[in-house]
Formats: sequence, structure tokens, C-alpha cells
Amino acid sequence: MPHKLLIIGSGPAGLSAAIYGARANLEPVVISGLIPGGQLTQTSDVENYPGFPSIQGPELMQKMRQHAEHFGTTFIDGNATKVDFSSRPFKVWVGDELHEADTVIAATGASAMWLGLPNEQRLQGKGVSACATCDGFFFKNKSVVVVGGGDTALEEATYLTKFCSQVTMVHRRDAFRGSKIMQDRALKNPKISVRWNSKVVDVLGQENVTGVRLKDTQTGKERELASQGLFVAIGHKPATDIFKGQLELDARGYVVIHDVTRTSVEGVFAAGDVQDPRYRQAVTSAGTGVMALLDAEKFLEGLEK
Ligand code: NAP
Repeated sequence: MPHKLLIIGSGPAGLSAAIYGARANLEPVVISGLIPGGQLTQTSDVENYPGFPSIQGPELMQKMRQHAEHFGTTFIDGNATKVDFSSRPFKVWVGDELHEADTVIAATGASAMWLGLPNEQRLQGKGVSACATCDGFFFKNKSVVVVGGGDTALEEATYLTKFCSQVTMVHRRDAFRGSKIMQDRALKNPKISVRWNSKVVDVLGQENVTGVRLKDTQTGKERELASQGLFVAIGHKPATDIFKGQLELDARGYVVIHDVTRTSVEGVFAAGDVQDPRYRQAVTSAGTGVMALLDAEKFLEGLEK
């Protein structure tokens, strides 16, 4: 017997869909993915999830999972490796194991792109972040570095001036990629300065970030810059490799949605960061998870008629 509802991904979108699905007797099955709990399990303090003035990211995701389990969600702790959405029941493989379902919610999320430096990884949550909206508040009156030259970097740098005493943008070229209006806004801001033609080649600090090492891309000269934070804003990558050739994806790889949560395949819905390059918040993901579930429920009711 195929499952009624299969959810791929266990971040806020997948788990919110599961909670609503379980309470609607859809007996949801969640494939938890490579990083069970998603991006929030890789951050520390979360202070913007309603109802939780301060909670650690992993604890919040653990609570969401327990909430979904409490109402009868089944979890498969593995990674979806292949899908076939060409006909119903839809097929999803976890390695050699085949799962079939009448409806699927794709909630595989996205991940921030990082510079790939060993100390950048070690100091994540200790001054290194990829989300100013999530973490900017922790940098009150501190000086920070923002890497990148696109709209995200410009937006994050501008946002961070609300809290920080000084924001230094580090860009590897001599011109920003982001839109003119965002450039003007950032460049006019007295708290923002720019290090052009520069790369961050190391992150300094033992317990917390104390600075970065910069390399001039033209002269090769290196120098240190004192900073208490490093925001990496060089783009995000949606986790959509398994959906290639199965669902319509946009040029950047995000799932294209029609009418709020519907994908290009009837009966397959998408929620959370996998379809959202813009808002990327735990709360907005949770909201789209619920919307996808309500649409999936309607779709299943239609099958029964
Ligand atoms: P993006 O436009 O791809 O820009 C990424 C930036 O990071 C580029 O400046 C790139 O440098 C730099 N970069 C990439 N890899 C790097 C590396 N390894 N080391 C150093 N620098 C690196 O990404 P995005 O800024 O996240 O924007 C993505 C899309 O979302 C864009 O279409 C953007 O317009 C949109 N967006 C819109 C808004 C808004 O309208 N409010 C806000 C955010 C994003 P190069 O320039 O040298 O390639």
C-alpha cells in the first residue's frame, strides 16, 4: 500500500507539514534527510521563533520532531536518493528502499554557500554566520565583515548597520554584482566601508572570531583586519539534485511553484527554502509547510471522490 503522504526533508517546513498531516490522519512519513532538522541544527541561539525568546537551534528542531512524532508521524532516518514522479503512486528511494505515496511534499531545503576555510567551519555560531536576519542582533556595537558582492551581501551589510558599529564589505572584484539601488543604499551608509579586490583567506580567533586575514587579489598581499563577526553572503544552493528532470526548476535550481505550493507535477507540493530564495526564515518555512499540507490534503480528498 502506498503511503498517503510522504514528506522529504525534516526542517521547519517538513515538520510543520508533518504535524498538520498527522493531526489530519494522513499518517505522514518523513524522510529526514542528510542533515535531520535542517539548517537550524547548524546554528546556535535562535531568538526569532515565536514562543521561544531564546532557544538553541538543535533543541528547537528536536522539539518540532517530538511534536510531529507525538501525533503519529513516522520517520525514516535516511536520505532520499532518487524519485520518480512520472506517475502515481509517486516513487521515492532511500538507497535501495522504495517508498510509494499518493502525494509528496518536497521540503529538502537549501544550504548557504561557504568559503570553504577550516576556521570558518570551526567558528560557525561563534561569530561566523550566513544569516544577518538570524544573528545580527548578537553583534550590537561590534564590527563585522560581510563577504560577497551580490544583493544578499548588500542587503545583509545594510541590515547589520542597525546593530553594528562598523561593517566592512569584502568583495573579490572591483564592482558589485547587486542591483544599483542596493549598492547606492550600502555605499551611502556611513557605517559601511568596502575592501575591493579582496578575499577572506582565514578566520582568526580561538573561542570567538577576532578578525579575518585578507588577501589582495591583485597584489597577493595579505593583511589582518580586526572583526568580531564574519557574515558569508555568497549565495545559497537549494537541495534539488534529486528533482532534476522530475520537477520544473528555475535557473538557480529552486523548485518552481504555481498557485502557492503546487509544483509542475500534480500531487507533488513544495515548501520551505527549496522553493524560496527570498525569505529563508524558519517561520516562513514552517508557514509554507502548512500551506503545502493543506493543499496536499485537498488533493487527496479529490482522489477519494
Ligand atoms: P549572487 O547574486 O550569486 O552573488 C554572490 C556574490 O558572492 C557575488 O558577488 C560573487 O562574486 C560572490 N562570491 C561567490 N562565491 C564567492 C567566493 N567563493 N568567495 C568570495 N565571493 C564569492 O547571490 P545573492 O547575492 O545571494 O543573490 C542571489 C539572487 O537573489 C540574485 O538574483 C539577487 O538579485 C536575489 N536577491 C534579491 C534581493 C532583493 O531584491 N531584496 C535580496 C537578496 C538576493 P562575483 O560578483 O565576483 O561573482
